[in-house]
Amino acid sequence: MSAVHAAPRVGFIGLGQMGRPMAARLRAAGLPLRVFDRRAEAVHDFVGEHGGAAAASLAELGAGSDVVVTMLPDGEVVRRVVLGDGRDDADRLLGALPAGSVLIDMSSSSPTGTQALGALLATHGVDVLDAPVSGGVARAEDGTLSIMVGGDASVVSRVRAVLASMGARIFETGVLGSGHALKALNNLVSAAGLIAAAEALLIGRRFGLDPVVMVDVFNASTARNNSTENKLKQFVLSRRFASGFALDLMVKDLTTAVDLAHATGTPVPFGAACRELWAAAQAELESGADHTAVVCWLERLARVRLESESG
Ligand code: NAD
Repeated sequence: MSAVHAAPRVGFIGLGQMGRPMAARLRAAGLPLRVFDRRAEAVHDFVGEHGGAAAASLAELGAGSDVVVTMLPDGEVVRRVVLGDGRDDADRLLGALPAGSVLIDMSSSSPTGTQALGALLATHGVDVLDAPVSGGVARAEDGTLSIMVGGDASVVSRVRAVLASMGARIFETGVLGSGHALKALNNLVSAAGLIAAAEALLIGRRFGLDPVVMVDVFNASTARNNSTENKLKQFVLSRRFASGFALDLMVKDLTTAVDLAHATGTPVPFGAACRELWAAAQAELESGADHTAVVCWLERLARVRLESESG
């Protein structure tokens, strides 16, 4: 990417729950934008609502971009988008991305896979950053995500304006892959917090306490966490179970965190049990369930529903 580009041409791949509002923030910031998703209707709807250009292929998107952002389910999908799926004629970014361009993987990917991809793209003159996010759909819409960026500081400074249009806080976490590592660890803590709070509500419900009163007390006390504040009333007690973050993706993040524990020789008896619990819920709940539906699975174990006495 040339330093003289005041507004880099951005290519955005993955217009799902998070990607769609994040790409909308790039448009709102006035950046030239080209978008791609394997779901043609997602591209059509985005361009209709926010403008920007629809890329007909990954290769077209790559060739016309200074910066490419990926917001895909996981690092394996990112790798396929970059390298193709092994077929000779496969559409892919590799070979199309200009030397000097930057690939920013904002998905929650595996850190070791990201490091391997970065080493490979470096041989083609393409820089890679990992910049996963936290804050969910609501903060993606507001452009106030937390962004944890791994990679070369000079590359980060070249794309800071792109990142700043999507996030309120940008943390430089260290080498390539460090953002992805930190994101998985963040979600380990987050996943544990939801389970701990839900189990406490189930105990209290069986004892005769009102779940709404319990959540109010937690939020005014030391049990307060992101789930007690932003998930329990909104998505569990309301029975909506529609936070916009899939349970499958949470299990993927927990697997990344536990893999990281194994790779670093860190004993994590609690973290491993937490992952097992979420994986057991995944096996029993319907595919595509929201991550907050893990509480339905806990309710079945406890044979009690978290309903308020006050309705
Ligand atoms: P999502 O499933 O809603 O969106 C993924 C998008 O990628 C979809 O639009 C899908 O069509 C597209 N896609 C899949 N394979 C593709 C391919 N080969 N080529 C082109 N497009 C393809 O997922 P999401 O909830 O937006 O999450 C995206 C990433 O962000 C995940 O890594 C997730 O863990 C992470 N994340 C999600 C949240 C959240 O609240 N949803 C929060 C923080 C981080």
